[in-house]
Amino acid sequence: MADFRRTKIIATLGPATESEEMLVKLIAAGVDVVRLNMAHATHDWTRTIIRRIRAAARTAGREVAVMMDIKGPEIRTGDLAVPLELKTGEVFDFTVKPGADRENAVEIRSVDVNYLNLVNDIRVGDTVLVDNGLIRLEVLEKHDAHIRCRVLTPGPLSSRRHINLPGVHVNLPSFTEKDRGDTLVGIEESVDFIALSFVREAADITSLRSFLQEHNSLARIVAKIEDQSAIDNLDEIIRATDVLMVARGDLGIEVPFQELPVIQRRAVRTCLSIGRPVIIATHMLESMIGQPLPTRAEITDVANAVYEQADCVMLSGETTVGKYPLESVAVLDTVARRIEEELANDFPEPAVFLDERLKVLRAAVVLANQIPHALILVFTRHGTTAAGLAAHRPARAAILAVTDSLATLRHLKLVRAVEPFLLTPFGDPEKTIERATASLLQQGRIQLGDKLVIVSDVQAKDRRIDSIQLRTVQ
Ligand code: PEP
Repeated sequence: MADFRRTKIIATLGPATESEEMLVKLIAAGVDVVRLNMAHATHDWTRTIIRRIRAAARTAGREVAVMMDIKGPEIRTGDLAVPLELKTGEVFDFTVKPGADRENAVEIRSVDVNYLNLVNDIRVGDTVLVDNGLIRLEVLEKHDAHIRCRVLTPGPLSSRRHINLPGVHVNLPSFTEKDRGDTLVGIEESVDFIALSFVREAADITSLRSFLQEHNSLARIVAKIEDQSAIDNLDEIIRATDVLMVARGDLGIEVPFQELPVIQRRAVRTCLSIGRPVIIATHMLESMIGQPLPTRAEITDVANAVYEQADCVMLSGETTVGKYPLESVAVLDTVARRIEEELANDFPEPAVFLDERLKVLRAAVVLANQIPHALILVFTRHGTTAAGLAAHRPARAAILAVTDSLATLRHLKLVRAVEPFLLTPFGDPEKTIERATASLLQQGRIQLGDKLVIVSDVQAKDRRIDSIQLRTVQ
């Protein structure tokens, strides 16, 4: 099998993996990006964990990126003193003004919801889904302070459960007060990515970008598409964001489930067509939360994401609470490598981009595709050139991206086929190539006799120009 994996692996941290020992094992097993789900995190925990991740990466001898996933305009039920067992046909209220009078309040059970405008935005006949769609209700009546529903699919309701309102345009701010507080902690701890939940339009990304710029953060934005509004505005969202996440957990509840694969394929294709990194997330190996081996369907789902040439695959429950987190990473690693071998034999045509710089990079990828066992060596300060090369999806060559910025190195951790290396400082282009080659030789990443397609600056009289060179390692 291939000596490197192109598809990157994201693992979400939780009780099963947050110890330093497990973190070192996860990173050594091949995790490229560690994700923190802020729906379940306190600020103290977040600070401690980010420092622990950085320490574990040093121990494991491999850098990883940290992604802070902020919860966005999420709707949740309030606290319940004891869980309720909702029964089929039962009439049940969701209240937006706790304590307000409700007709028949004695007989009808209820829970609060953290969404004041629920009553205005929902219509009679709409569906309310609770706890990842496990409980389904239909809206019967709207009142000032509550909506009255009938339970269609029964189930146990405990405190602070997630609510989905398929087809309802939710008028909550895209970047909430909680998100602001969480993001400030992320900025202070230099997280590499902020993932914004329930992105509905490009403006949601623009306002987060302004916030990051105001606070001098280098963090990149991951837009999570999770509902119909995001699908309606998919193209503008992909253009505005740095990275896209197909967040299939909520998406699979908010849209008819048969639309999910169609949306995934469209999202990946659109991202590939403009060179935007894309993540496939949720339920990739769900059965491995409790079992040591995946189902055949899960193996095929992971394979499909790799065949589609997504940049990353992501684990959630498998690594937060699962019994087999390391085995889950190993399954992603094995399946991805095997499918990548198939893709290399298929020789997909590189995408054609309008941007002139990307056309130059295409020439480098076409050259590497012609030479068996070639590697691409690129010098990149902000990661743009490396990501531009990756956008062309080289058939076999790894992209060895040498950078003088730790932030860039970490950003490149989620870009397909890129292996980033740190080399400081960058100086005269020829000397930098020599130093990089010597260092990669010493690390065993390249061998004498290897063919390198080198993308770098060269000095041409008084200015630097892009160059593509073919060299043999000597
Ligand atoms: C999802 O819904 O698929 C997702 C990744 O988001 P979260 O885990 O925050 O619900």
